[in-house]
Amino acid sequence: MRSHLLNDTTAEHYRRSVTDGVERVAAKLATTDRPFTGVTVDALAPRIERIDLDQPLHDTAAVLDELEDVYLRDAIYFHHPRYLAHLNCPVVIPAVLGEAILSAVNSSLDTWDQSAGGTLIERKLIDWTARRIGLGPAADGVFTSGGTQSNLQALLLAREEAKSEDLATLRIFASEVSHFSVKKSAKLLGLGQDAVVSVPVDHDKRMQTVALARELERCAQDGLIPMAVVATAGSTDFGSIDPLPEIAELCGRHDTWMHVDAAYGCGLLASPRRRALLNGIERADSVTVDYHKSFFQPVSSSAVLVRDASTLRHATYHAEYLNPRRMVQERIPNQVDKSLQTTRRFDALKLWMTLRVMGADGIGQLFDEVCDLAQEGWELLAADPRYDVVVEPALSTLVFRYIPAAVTDPAEIDGANLHARKALFASGEAVVAGTKVGGRHYLKFTLLNPETKASDIAAVLDLIAGHAEQYLGESLDRAS
Ligand SMILES: *Cc1c(COP(=O)(O)O)cnc(C)c1O
Repeated sequence: MRSHLLNDTTAEHYRRSVTDGVERVAAKLATTDRPFTGVTVDALAPRIERIDLDQPLHDTAAVLDELEDVYLRDAIYFHHPRYLAHLNCPVVIPAVLGEAILSAVNSSLDTWDQSAGGTLIERKLIDWTARRIGLGPAADGVFTSGGTQSNLQALLLAREEAKSEDLATLRIFASEVSHFSVKKSAKLLGLGQDAVVSVPVDHDKRMQTVALARELERCAQDGLIPMAVVATAGSTDFGSIDPLPEIAELCGRHDTWMHVDAAYGCGLLASPRRRALLNGIERADSVTVDYHKSFFQPVSSSAVLVRDASTLRHATYHAEYLNPRRMVQERIPNQVDKSLQTTRRFDALKLWMTLRVMGADGIGQLFDEVCDLAQEGWELLAADPRYDVVVEPALSTLVFRYIPAAVTDPAEIDGANLHARKALFASGEAVVAGTKVGGRHYLKFTLLNPETKASDIAAVLDLIAGHAEQYLGESLDRAS
C-alpha cells in the first residue's frame, strides 16, 4: 500500500497515474459532442449505488474505467460551446496545470511553516488584485473558497466595525437582485430577520440609489445602524452593475461600510475594453472577487479584498500550536490570521500560472469576448418575435422567454418555458438555466465560453422554440 504514497520512491507511479487520468480527460474533451448525455438520476444512481467501497479494485486503470461509467461519460461539460447555463467557465490550461501542482505538493496556506513561498505568492496576487481595484496602499485580503465565503467574511468585518451592542439594530442594504449569500451571511452573523433591506432596482436591474438614500434616511430616523451597503457588480441573473460612485457617495454620507460583490464582474478588472464599467469600485471598503467565474479558473478560486488591512483582525485568533502572537513580532507571515478557514488550498497558484503564461490582458480579452457575444445574443433575441428579452446585457447573461403570439394564458407560457428547459436538458444538446422575473418563468443564458458563437445561440433558440411549441401543441390536445 505504501506504493500509493506520493514520495521519492513513487515518482514514476505518480507520473503514470496522473498521465493516465489526463489521457482520459483529454480523450473526453476530444470526443464530447454535447454538453450532457441527458442521463437521468434514475439511470445513474444505481450505477453508483452498486459499487462496494469496501471492495477496492487495486488497479488504477480499472478504477478509471469505472469512473468513465459513474462520472466522466455523463458529466456536465462546461467547455462545450452549448453549455449556456450557470456561472461556470471553461478553464484555462495554465490554471489546470497549477491545480495539478498545488494538490501534489499540497501546501496549506494557513501558516508560513506549511507553505513558505505559497504564502508570499498568495500575498502578491492579493496585492495585484487590490491594485487593479484601486483600493490604496493599506489594502489587503485573502483567498477564500468562493463568493459566498467572501461575502460572509466581508460582512463579518462590517459587523465588527459597526461596533453595535445590539445586533438586532444592524441593517444591510442590498438590491433586490443581490446574491442570496448576503441574506445567508446575515443569518450566520446573528443579525435579525429583517436585517437585510431589499432595495428596488431600475429597469436595467441596477440598484435605485434614490431608494437607497430613502432607506438609509429611514434607518437613521428609526435609530437603527446602517452596517453595510452591498453593491452588486454583476448580478448573477442579469450581470447588472449597481451605480458604484453614487453608492460610495451615500456610504460616505452615512458612514456605512461599502461592500462590492464583484463575484461575477471581477473579470472586468482585467478587461482591456470594459474596465470602466467598474468605476467607483476603488471606493469600496471590501470587495468579493470570484476568479472561478470570470477569470476562467477551476473551482475553487476566490478572494475577499479590504481597503484597510487592519479590519482583517476581526478574523484573527491566535492558537498556541499554530500562529502564536510572537510570530507577529517575528514578522512571520501567517495567512490564517486573515482567514475564516484554517487548512486552506493554495488556489492562488492557479491564478499565478495563468498570469505568468497568459497575462492579465489574455484573460480580460476572453471575458470581453463573451460580453461581445452576449451583445450579439441580445440583438438576436430583440429581433426575434418568438422571444421577450429582459435587459440589454452589461456583462454576459441573457434572460428571456418564449412568448408565442397565439397564447395569452401566463400559466401556459410559464409551462412552455419550463418544459423547454427540461426537454433541452434531457436531450443533452444544450444546457440553459432558468429564473423568475416578476413572478414568471424565464430562461437564462450565462455566456462564459469564448468558443460559443452567435450561431450556437441561434441554434439553441430554435431548439427551445421547438420544445415549447411541442408542449403547447400537446396542451391544446389535452384541452380539446
Ligand atoms: C456566484 C455569486 C456569488 C457566490 O459565489 P460562490 O463562489 O458560488 O460561492 C456571490 N455573489 C454573486 C453576485 C455571484 O454571482
